[in-house]
Amino acid sequence: MSNITVCVRFRPLSLKEKRVHGDSVCIMCSDAESFVFKDEKEEDLPFCFDRVFYQDSAQADVYEFLALPIVQDTVKGLNGTIITYGQTGAGKTYSMEGLGILDCDENKKGLLPRVVDGIFECIKSSPEHSNCTVKLSMVEIYMEKVRDLFDLSKDNIQIKENKSQGIMLSGTTEMSILNPAEALKFLFRGISNRAVGETQMNVSSSRSHCVYMFSIQQESALDKRVKSGKLILVDLAGSEKVEKTGAEGRVLEEAKNINKSLSSLGNVINALTNGRGNHIPYRDSKLTRILQDSLGGNSRTALLCCCSPSSSNASESLSTLRFGTRTKLI
Ligand code: ADP
Ligand code: MG
Repeated sequence: MSNITVCVRFRPLSLKEKRVHGDSVCIMCSDAESFVFKDEKEEDLPFCFDRVFYQDSAQADVYEFLALPIVQDTVKGLNGTIITYGQTGAGKTYSMEGLGILDCDENKKGLLPRVVDGIFECIKSSPEHSNCTVKLSMVEIYMEKVRDLFDLSKDNIQIKENKSQGIMLSGTTEMSILNPAEALKFLFRGISNRAVGETQMNVSSSRSHCVYMFSIQQESALDKRVKSGKLILVDLAGSEKVEKTGAEGRVLEEAKNINKSLSSLGNVINALTNGRGNHIPYRDSKLTRILQDSLGGNSRTALLCCCSPSSSNASESLSTLRFGTRTKLI
């Protein structure tokens, strides 16, 4: 099965990386699919992905290559998933949201606002456009608990499965969206609520997964048949290793939970790409359970592995590149 697209994106060097480490960059750009990575021992490792976005990549290119085909499919009634992976500071949220959701400079707009535009564009050109509903839910997964980002009092959402709707988040708030502007308003609200929750609980957003779920339903005017597609975007918790010796208490628990869900995500994608009717361990984490009917089957998945280009982050970037490689190649 090649329903999974794995891409890598290197952000530009940050000011701090430039100041502290000079201009040292650990990648040698080759072409749109492959590059050479210099590890900490200065050895050259070749990598190959579906597409590599270098430091000067445009948000629009990332959207067009990785998200647009999935958006088109979900409007046709299939499910899809778009995931950003990488250490904290690698560019996951920049890729997902851009520099803010509202009033964002056109060039800086991330995947979410583009996906929203794409959904409504595709609906407009679809024959069933008159009977179409789009809904948005947003949840956050922290320490294996699912919290509704439109209603923070719902902090232990249960994941259920039923025949007609597939996997569903029982009792989560669903916002009906009539146009892109409204969607952005709701996204902004969910993201702001996430920040409120973080302050209340004194947790960093880099330690939780943020899940954006669009459901698109279209009823045919002719035979009343309903097509429904689900598009899930996930801004994952930072994949960085927590220093084993120093960490204790909550930090250690957070790290264990993040490790567990990221590795179960890897295992699930692995088992799917392996494709021999083997057991798929969806139930190993809340994250993979939520994604159960949006990964595999005839759904499409895109994984964007975000990396710093700086040699000071070489070991974390290498671990991200290996995760990307593992999920794609068996
Ligand atoms: P993460 O969500 O992975 O922790 P962020 O997306 O918050 O990382 O990115 C860290 C910083 O780097 C932010 O200031 C962000 O604006 C900047 N940044 C990330 N990717 C890019 C990029 N491709 N181009 C320009 N700036 C970027
Ligand atoms: Mg982030």
